[in-house]
Amino acid sequence: MKDYWQNYIDGAFVDGGAGRIDVINPGNGEKLAEQALADSADVDRAVQAARRVHLSGALSDLRPVERGRMVQAMGRYLLEHIDEIAKVLTLEQGKPLWESQIEIEGAARYFEYYGNQAETVEGRSIPLGKGYFDFTTYEPFGVSAQIIPWNYPIEMTARSLSAALATGNTCVIKTPELTPLSNAWFAHAAEAVGLPKGAVNILCGLGHDAGAALSAHSDVNQIVFTGSVPTGIVIASAAAQNVVPCVLELGGKSAAIVHDDADLDAFENDVRWGIYFNAGQVCSAMSRVIAHDSIHDALVERMVGVAQSLEVKAGIEQPEFGATMGAMVSDAQRDRALGMIAEAQSQGARVATGGHKLNRPGAFLEPTILTDVTPDMTIANEEVFGPVLSVLKFSSDEQAFRIANGTPYGLVGGVFTRDLDRATSAARQLRAGQVFVNEWYAGGVETPFGGYGKSGYGREKGREALWNYVQTKNVAIKLKG
Ligand code: ADP
Repeated sequence: MKDYWQNYIDGAFVDGGAGRIDVINPGNGEKLAEQALADSADVDRAVQAARRVHLSGALSDLRPVERGRMVQAMGRYLLEHIDEIAKVLTLEQGKPLWESQIEIEGAARYFEYYGNQAETVEGRSIPLGKGYFDFTTYEPFGVSAQIIPWNYPIEMTARSLSAALATGNTCVIKTPELTPLSNAWFAHAAEAVGLPKGAVNILCGLGHDAGAALSAHSDVNQIVFTGSVPTGIVIASAAAQNVVPCVLELGGKSAAIVHDDADLDAFENDVRWGIYFNAGQVCSAMSRVIAHDSIHDALVERMVGVAQSLEVKAGIEQPEFGATMGAMVSDAQRDRALGMIAEAQSQGARVATGGHKLNRPGAFLEPTILTDVTPDMTIANEEVFGPVLSVLKFSSDEQAFRIANGTPYGLVGGVFTRDLDRATSAARQLRAGQVFVNEWYAGGVETPFGGYGKSGYGREKGREALWNYVQTKNVAIKLKG
């Protein structure tokens, strides 16, 4: 493990104008390494490098299949280095080693998927009658700025970088302060597949410094952000000043409605993945379960069983897939979650299991289930971003929708029932960008993902996401005769 990691600007690994930041291993609370911190001058160099490559046409003038092949090769590069990347990702982020492997495989999948799509971005011809020939083309915006969160640093960068490159954009990635290290492999991948110097720039910096400088830079042409609502608003405001489009993937307080005819055996698996995968630090986590009165108690018993079956320990000690959970990303995030649990208790919620930090160094929190949660409580409305599940009750479908749709968010939602009419009706009535029926996280790289309401706008994943990275040009030709 290197003890100092640099930024990657214009094809070179460089120090940061703002010095260095300590990266902490949340699995033991110890310093892991130092990361170079970019300042606004570094950001400017990265943007100018990306702009130069864009204007040169080195990427955008390629036949799309050639760009697509390079994008696909980046994914293969990640897989070829999966063991080293997974180790660093686990050490900086806290997740089990086996979860890091899944994350890197997921990242590689984005490069495969969008690499394959590169040559499918086709325009159309619009009939204007005799005397004209008209067609549309899709052109890249130019410099795509991508501001990355710490929960899935590899997968989130892969998601935007792959689609941006496939459509011919050049990129400046601002990695998260807490988990910047593993993103270095995108720089290595870009070099290995022969992308022009400056096409991909990877830098870490403080959000309010380098992040703000990047989102306000007048030569950035498009911004992708995943993170919290307040930061999303700041970034969208900066983008508005330069009149550039944004994709915002913000938080969620997503709910699963569990009916009395649901397959409860299967639902246990959804609890395991929905709220305890990545220690619940997932935008689309199943952070609320809205249970029908008649099955509530039995369901709570099962969910408590799932929570208690998980062994919580340092991610690096968890090479094998299994019933395990790692540390949260930092003590501060863990303590914030603890504070929200205490507040929920003071408002009348009951801790059915968990609720404590582990008595050892590291950002560990027990898998937690809160019952007797009512829709007015803070915990029912605000994102914990941790392994904390709130259980609410309903007696009629209308009440369930009212509770599910009762937060400002609208990222995903779920309904668990064997009744097709009920499921279909729920899919229509849930105010969310993605609805899971009988399996939380059903879908994949192919399925569009993004929020209603305060969960953001624009779509990631799927064909939809490609249109974030291109602008339509119409060409109308007056013919002679
Ligand atoms: P969290 O508070 O959980 O870290 P944020 O949404 O603040 O979540 O952070 C997500 C990403 O946004 C990080 O890369 C962070 O550095 C960046 N960021 C934070 N503040 C700003 C800002 N004012 N402008 C641009 N980027 C920012």
